[in-house]
Amino acid sequence: MNQPKNSIWVFADYRNYFQNRVTLQLLAKANDLASELDAEVCAVLFGYETDEYMAEYIAHGAHKVLVVEHPSLKQYSVEKYTALMEKFAREYQPEIILIGATSFGKEFAPRVAKCLDTGLTADCIGLEITADGNLLQIAPSFGGNLIAEIITPDHRPQMATVRPGTFKEIPHNDYLRGEVVRLKMPKKMPADRLRLVAYERQPERDQRLEEAKVVVCGGRGMGSKSKFKKIFELAQLLSGEVGATRPIVYAGWAGDDTLIGQAGKHIKPQILFSFGISGAIQHTAALTDADFIIAVNKNPNATMMKMADVAVVADANQVCSALIKALKERIQSKSD
Ligand SMILES: Cc1cc2nc3c(=O)[nH]c(=O)nc-3n(C[C@H](O)[C@H](O)[C@H](O)COP(=O)(O)OP(=O)(O)OC[C@H]3O[C@@H](n4cnc5c(N)ncnc54)[C@H](O)[C@@H]3O)c2cc1C
Repeated sequence: MNQPKNSIWVFADYRNYFQNRVTLQLLAKANDLASELDAEVCAVLFGYETDEYMAEYIAHGAHKVLVVEHPSLKQYSVEKYTALMEKFAREYQPEIILIGATSFGKEFAPRVAKCLDTGLTADCIGLEITADGNLLQIAPSFGGNLIAEIITPDHRPQMATVRPGTFKEIPHNDYLRGEVVRLKMPKKMPADRLRLVAYERQPERDQRLEEAKVVVCGGRGMGSKSKFKKIFELAQLLSGEVGATRPIVYAGWAGDDTLIGQAGKHIKPQILFSFGISGAIQHTAALTDADFIIAVNKNPNATMMKMADVAVVADANQVCSALIKALKERIQSKSD
């Protein structure tokens, strides 16, 4: 394979595609970075019978797809995938490797970084190129109280993980052209020390929060698990998705998949309803792309109220109930 001076690799994480779009989002960001580095963007794909993904990556901005196909790669294997990434990264020496912070990516990226003896910045919320050509990796740190800007000047590749929903994908374009480069499966591969017992696709609903146009998010100010059910009811009436803060998820009022924030999902709804949420940085860091925020809180000085386009000083439960009632009446009157 002819290797240009610089290449930016994006790990092709296609599990749960179509819902999980992080690879496409990283390809878009890699294109921005590549234009500054005069680099090419490569999707690096391990699997079996993956033609449809190759085409998809090219249509979303990959200049090249480096692919290893083998029946033993049909199911994700962190050990095999790490060995492959290490081998080919040593061989082709990409400048940058970007990996989605999916459950697999979070396990895979640190292993690859360790094998390649380089650094890794986890959960980046921004990526830029510095004046001297390093990757500036912007990530929350110290529990989200600081935003750190990290560079890796002495080691290559520069590696970062990025949470799904952080960047916007390039729209699908069938006219984009790219090259597929098939790499040989090495003869010697590590034996799997883990045995896959079962594989279950995540329900579609869990994947949609990052893409939802309407998100109804509830916090501790909702008061109790039974009162929090109103958040679900309102979200359903608005054809939206439910979001929650960490105390809610920890208390079991809503599932892990609803967590919004540094430790959860980054959202970009057109309308975000925020009920009884104080607005800690770990939560609000994931709301920066929300177009319009309506917050309800007893405390007018809560950070969330200051961030909001409309701030309602009131009891979160009462406002939630009133909205549910009004929407039901509207639906009823339309069907009469
Ligand atoms: C490393 C780390 C990572 C973290 N990651 C995340 C994360 O990803 N996501 C996340 O959300 N948090 C995260 N947190 C926790 C975060 O710091 C906050 O503790 C959390 O977001 C607060 O949730 P809350 O707003 O629901 O609760 P609180 O901070 O307790 O706020 C409750 C709000 O409700 C209001 N209120 C009370 N009663 C009513 C009422 N009847 N009507 C209206 N308003 C009312 C109060 O005025 C208050 O503003 C993280 C923390 C750490 C240290």
